[in-house]
Amino acid sequence: MAWFGRKSKSPPVKLSHSLATDPSSPPTRPPVNAETDPAREAEILRIGTEMLDSARNHKAGLLSAKFYQDKLMDWAMKDQNFKVQLFRFVDAFPALTTPEMVHDHLVDYMTQPGVKAPPGMDLALKAGGVAKTLAAKTISKQIKGMAGNFIAGTDAADALPMLAKLWKDGIAFSVDLLGEACVSNAEADSYQAKYLDLVENLVGTASEWPEKERLERDHLGVVPRVNVSIKVSSLSANFNPIAPESSMNEFMMRARPILDAAKRNGVLINFDMEHHAFKDLTLDTFMHACDTHDFEAGIAMQAYLKSGVEDAKRISEWAKRTGRVVTVRLVKGAYWDFETIHAEQEGWPCPVWNEKWKTDACFEQMVEVFLDHCPTTPGEGGIKLALGSHNVRSISAAISGVDKRGLPREAIELQMLHGMADQLKHAAEDMGLRVREYVPVGEMIPGMAYLVRRLLENTSNESWLKAGFLDNADTATLLAEPTGEAFSGDARDLCEVAPERHQLSHADPRVADGRPFYTEPLRDFADKAQRSAFNAAVENAVVPVVANDHTVEQGTAMVDAAHKAFPAWRDFDPVKRAEVLAIAADIMRSRRDELSGIVCKESNKVWREADADVCEAIDFCAYYARESIHLFDRTRLGRFIGELDELWYQPKGIAVVISPWNFPLAICTGMTVAALVTGNTVIVKPAEQTPGIAKVMHDILSQALERVGAPSGVLHFCPAPGETTGAALVRDPRVNVIAFTGSKAVGLNIVEAAGITPEEQTHVKRVVCEMGGKNAIIVDVSADLDEAVLGVRHSAFGFQGQKCSACSRCIVVDPEGPNGQRMQLFLERLGESTKTLVLGAPDNPNTDVSPVIDAEASGNIRKAIESARAEGLTELVGEKDFPSTGIENLIPPHVFTGVSESNTIYQKEIFGPVLAVVHASDFQEALRLANGHAYKLTGGVFTRKPTHIEESKRGFRVGNLYINRGCTGALVGRQPFGGFGMSGIGSKAGGPDYLMQFVDPRACCENTMRRGFAPEL
Ligand SMILES: Cc1cc2nc3c(=O)[nH]c(=O)nc-3n(C[C@H](O)[C@H](O)[C@H](O)COP(=O)(O)OP(=O)(O)OC[C@H]3O[C@@H](n4cnc5c(N)ncnc54)[C@H](O)[C@@H]3O)c2cc1C
Repeated sequence: MAWFGRKSKSPPVKLSHSLATDPSSPPTRPPVNAETDPAREAEILRIGTEMLDSARNHKAGLLSAKFYQDKLMDWAMKDQNFKVQLFRFVDAFPALTTPEMVHDHLVDYMTQPGVKAPPGMDLALKAGGVAKTLAAKTISKQIKGMAGNFIAGTDAADALPMLAKLWKDGIAFSVDLLGEACVSNAEADSYQAKYLDLVENLVGTASEWPEKERLERDHLGVVPRVNVSIKVSSLSANFNPIAPESSMNEFMMRARPILDAAKRNGVLINFDMEHHAFKDLTLDTFMHACDTHDFEAGIAMQAYLKSGVEDAKRISEWAKRTGRVVTVRLVKGAYWDFETIHAEQEGWPCPVWNEKWKTDACFEQMVEVFLDHCPTTPGEGGIKLALGSHNVRSISAAISGVDKRGLPREAIELQMLHGMADQLKHAAEDMGLRVREYVPVGEMIPGMAYLVRRLLENTSNESWLKAGFLDNADTATLLAEPTGEAFSGDARDLCEVAPERHQLSHADPRVADGRPFYTEPLRDFADKAQRSAFNAAVENAVVPVVANDHTVEQGTAMVDAAHKAFPAWRDFDPVKRAEVLAIAADIMRSRRDELSGIVCKESNKVWREADADVCEAIDFCAYYARESIHLFDRTRLGRFIGELDELWYQPKGIAVVISPWNFPLAICTGMTVAALVTGNTVIVKPAEQTPGIAKVMHDILSQALERVGAPSGVLHFCPAPGETTGAALVRDPRVNVIAFTGSKAVGLNIVEAAGITPEEQTHVKRVVCEMGGKNAIIVDVSADLDEAVLGVRHSAFGFQGQKCSACSRCIVVDPEGPNGQRMQLFLERLGESTKTLVLGAPDNPNTDVSPVIDAEASGNIRKAIESARAEGLTELVGEKDFPSTGIENLIPPHVFTGVSESNTIYQKEIFGPVLAVVHASDFQEALRLANGHAYKLTGGVFTRKPTHIEESKRGFRVGNLYINRGCTGALVGRQPFGGFGMSGIGSKAGGPDYLMQFVDPRACCENTMRRGFAPEL
């Protein structure tokens, strides 16, 4: 039977519960609720059936089912391709300001391959002229209608009639301010003002409403009439678990007046729970706020987290211990898709359950913990439980827990989202429960992410509501105990199967663990243990003292030794050569944080950048080890009878590696191990600024070489001045390969020098050369500004802009001109967001921007800034916007606007924290500008228009293109890195072709026929 009165011919369904990764793996056990108690189950079934009956019979009508009756939703649920494109369009919709743009984007999304628009919409897509405007208006109305289902008004005042009506109908509320990324202090201040407004002013109006005993009292006393939900991250643009103390302080600075006002006005403040990365910090911040401020406090906690039960115990024990009473709104969690995707991308263990029943089971287990800690008398500390769920099974299980403990039902509260499950709200009310609606208010743009989350949740096959409203699941299914028996999927985390899943490299049983390569996961600084270990390592790191004093003669002696060692290394077992890299990777892994500490101290990299540098070095070792040995296996070409055609490679000879200071471990390691593993002997001349970490790398590789019994003289370390010893090494006629990364001037000089072939030289030198970039990011009209602002900011100012991949030109599309609304909004957000960056020493985890590499670099950057000023450019952000740190060579981020192609900062690579913002009137002009530079390294595009994504792929001619993300941070094997034009010659580092540059191919044709007979015949 269909419980919610929607007729359907489809048979009852079973809730599907798994995100299987590999069906061959063993089934998992439920995390909790291992033992079924038949009496308890019968009770849950009884309560659940009562609630479902009541919901079915309620006059509240079909309000909640309305969502599923919407034609668009109906079509979306039948067609996954359409659903994806529709939701993407909905996401972009608020950025589309004219009917033409709406129509244009709609057509674009709905004509993507495999998408079939529903009847009616297909006609609208073909519309022209006036009909086009009409079609755009129709779809706009539909989307606004959809949003209106879930969003109660543009602000609290707008939502007041709705809140009053709810109250009249016997339903309480919690107001939530819509908003996603808070990217600047200015935005955090604005959120603070809005929260204060709610806390100060809602009470006045609400106090005029009639009394409702059930909504205003529980078994312990008064329940506040006004309840406001806040997002912790909205009150601080620097809310970051890497620096918990400063994050908490900054939050408290803005929260304090809100909490005081809440106390004065008797308002309950609920801390919403956001992404997993913020979970521990949010819990700590909440407990700190409660310890230091007397206010009615609540917090949301998520059952989809594997840590759910542990989290529940932690907060419950704290409440008991401190005597504090707080409300916990227990939810399953709104970011399941995000958490799953994010963990997979980072290679981290997934923090959320991968099967729905486990989330449900965890919810029930957490309920038990909270009910065990529910205060029974006023004055006793503990947890008051609010259930944030629309799932009748989950709710019934909690109610039965309340009954079992002899608690009154008013001891719990039921909370549901605005626009969802209205029949259930009324059914719960009929059962004597206190029901509260979570009411989001706000504008469309910040509201869109919330809307998309609701759309995803409601259309998910895992949704209990969908099963009830749309799929007509039967009572037994809807109220079934969440156990694993029927739905066992793969318990293994995606990160455990990542190497096989992604196949980023060859796999060979003779190399390392025999599995394909997978990128070394970065440290998760939200994890306290990892953070503390890293902190200690940075503190204790000692940079080896290395003088750059090797003379030309010493360099020449190294070439002599390398020359001598070459034949033995050339003929050394390629598997053992690969083993050297695998051993080096293992040593680096075991010393990871220490190496990061050295990088941090020697090159001024902040924590995350230093960690990434070390991971990349490990990756180069692990990747090239796996990619090398097949080169030396003879590959048979064809299957000709009587003819054996084979191809293989041999090492070139002596390689000189000249590495830069900006990735002092990663790039130095990458070039060195590529040359080594392919059988070349190597002389490493590191950047003069960072010889310390290069020495550590050399020592690690030497240790690995020794372990496999490599001949001596294979690897040499030559810390020396580039102009003398470096130049001599490059010019030595015995050198075969020069692998260089650095400035264009030096790179071109090397190319020129390598082209000279003295009489005695027996080969032409190969130069692998990566030089630089003047990289552009395009911000299109449909860009998601939350993402674009942070993406541009990070790409421009990460490691002070001292990356060849850094963004130094930002091209903003605004058809209204350089003073158009879009341009202004983007500039305002980017400017404010940039001003929020924290300047400081690199070893302070809070620091975003630390000193540039040395005084010479600092002088050059300052000259570039001066020339921008002299050319009359507008300094949107500069020195004036940051407190003075007194730290030498620390140059604050600079953003110049009004830049055109002729300006020096548009043309010249600066290699520092200086960004030029340029206007383009349309996407084509933006592409032309982006391409209009001799450097061709990286590029970025923020757009939500499918054809612009396609045009970028075709026409944005750079080595590495990034769409809807920042343009730095390429990963080995995943985003092979390198450019063309003036950015360099050679193939991509960390890509399948890179090693080919260090070898020469050889082919052999053997006639295997003897007197007319061949072995194959
Ligand atoms: C009043 C209220 C306040 C809320 N506040 C927050 C908040 O602060 N933070 C927050 O994150 N959410 C919050 N939510 C959103 C809430 O997390 C979702 O609405 C809720 O998860 C839906 O659960 P359900 O029991 O109603 O539905 P069900 O259909 O029973 O459960 C759906 C949930 O199951 C989980 N899930 C789905 N697929 C899988 C899978 N394959 N494996 C494991 N788990 C899966 C997801 O969490 C999904 O949302 C709030 C909800 C309410 C009602």
